[in-house]
Amino acid sequence: MPDFKNEPYTDFSIAANRQSMEAALAKVRSEFGREYDLSIAGERLRTPDKLKSVNPSNPTEIVGIHQKATPAMASKAIEAAHSFFPEWSRTNPASRIAMLRRAAQSIRSRKMEFDAWLVYEAGKSWPEAEADVCEAIDFCEYYALEMERLSGPQPVSQLPGERDEMRYIPLGVGLIIPPWNFPLAIMAGMTTAALVTGNTVVLKPSSETPTIAARFAEALLEAGFPERSFSLLTGSGSAIGDLLVQNPKTRFIAFTGSRDVGLRINELAAKHQPGQLWIKRVIAEMGGKDAIVVDAGADIDKAVEGVAVSAFGYQGQKCSACSRAIVDERIYDQFLEKLQARVGGIRVGPANDPSNYMGPVISNSARRSILDYIEVGKREGRLVAGGAAENGDGYFIQPTVIADVEPGAKIFQEEIFGPVLAVSKAKNFERALEMANDSQYGLTGAVYSNDPEHIRQARERFFVGNLYVNRKCTGAMVGAHPFGGFNLSGTDSKAGGPDYLLLFLQAKAIAEKIVN
Ligand code: NAP
Repeated sequence: MPDFKNEPYTDFSIAANRQSMEAALAKVRSEFGREYDLSIAGERLRTPDKLKSVNPSNPTEIVGIHQKATPAMASKAIEAAHSFFPEWSRTNPASRIAMLRRAAQSIRSRKMEFDAWLVYEAGKSWPEAEADVCEAIDFCEYYALEMERLSGPQPVSQLPGERDEMRYIPLGVGLIIPPWNFPLAIMAGMTTAALVTGNTVVLKPSSETPTIAARFAEALLEAGFPERSFSLLTGSGSAIGDLLVQNPKTRFIAFTGSRDVGLRINELAAKHQPGQLWIKRVIAEMGGKDAIVVDAGADIDKAVEGVAVSAFGYQGQKCSACSRAIVDERIYDQFLEKLQARVGGIRVGPANDPSNYMGPVISNSARRSILDYIEVGKREGRLVAGGAAENGDGYFIQPTVIADVEPGAKIFQEEIFGPVLAVSKAKNFERALEMANDSQYGLTGAVYSNDPEHIRQARERFFVGNLYVNRKCTGAMVGAHPFGGFNLSGTDSKAGGPDYLLLFLQAKAIAEKIVN
């Protein structure tokens, strides 16, 4: 894709950029506690029951007050999307592409404000927030370019006496269900992929990060997407999710989130409903239990750094986070000693303070669940770093490393989704690869090695959707690293890659007889 370039990251080591970010944080803070409407195809609604999102660095602070959609509102949103679909699906793709480029520009023009919302509502550090916002811009620009490629006739062979053609058309009403951990990028990617291809959208954002969704919806409107092209349906997934998925007018579901919710959506969507004219399509991106393999001859310092940032960046709350380090026994002790020192230097505290590398985890229930896993881990292995909650007002947890973990252990197998790393010893590279593949997931993985034959074996046998060699296993870039995993990590889709928009389209072939 010669025309695509990733959005450059703001360099916060430059004083002027730091000042702009401080100003954005102050502006956003001044907007805390505002109430946002729910919107069904442009109709603004309020409900008696409210959803309050809080600052996980200081949960007494209410970031935004949102509506809780009722089942009747959920049905109404699908109906509204269904009724606008014929008109929206026939708009010229060029005008939808132009809207998407304006959406990218709209987010870009207030990048630090979006950064600040991510710091306060999702607990992201400045650089993590910046990476999320840049990725959202990248998705918009990349899918705009991709839609240029996919709109218009596609190459097919021509039979004598016929004009043969194939073109892509949209599917219908898309239900978009993002998670909270990339509350802007993933939401923007799934929503804009659906819209630019000519589908209408019902967006049900995560209950943890509804304010970022409301801000994104404003950017879509500013970019010219018609009010009727999408609804923003805040509210609890467990209360309205099943209804939205089961509605016979829902044509497809793009979901990113946990394994269990993804499997439930897949199961419910597969059941044909009375009046339903299609087989629903499910695009599901689910959990991970990502491993980094460290080979005997690897550069240990680089491997320690890669493991530390992959495990503890954004508090380990990335689907791509390294939660298992599998290390050759010949360098195991040396690796652990260096890792322990590196992790000991990680500062934890409020995400708005840029001197903290780690902020809070997203919620109190997440903190409880992670601390429970840590207690299990203390029995399953040897605690070498962290192991407890961190002091402070927010949902802070110490970066935790548990060594000598066997593959059968719960903390080796289950997604914890927090700052907890299991370190395991392997007798050789062959065994390390086997251990890495011993998982129900298959999202990301990395190998640190200087042995070309071992690297070749990893390329061939490490069963993950995104494999990295001699670098960290997080930080996929739109365009260069199409993202998505195998096994129970999802439906093998690749966000930010050339296959992705096809998931939101269907192909129509037309043959016209021109000579008798
Ligand atoms: P989650 O609990 O599964 O929630 C994801 C979304 O599903 C939220 O919007 C949630 O709404 C909604 N939901 C909940 N119950 C539902 C139901 N019955 N029907 C329909 N929707 C429902 O996941 P999360 O905690 O937000 O995100 C963390 C998970 O996402 C981790 O497992 C992580 O690995 C995964 N993830 C995967 C990728 C990837 O690319 N593979 C990327 C990022 C994250 P409420 O918030 O209202 O409950």
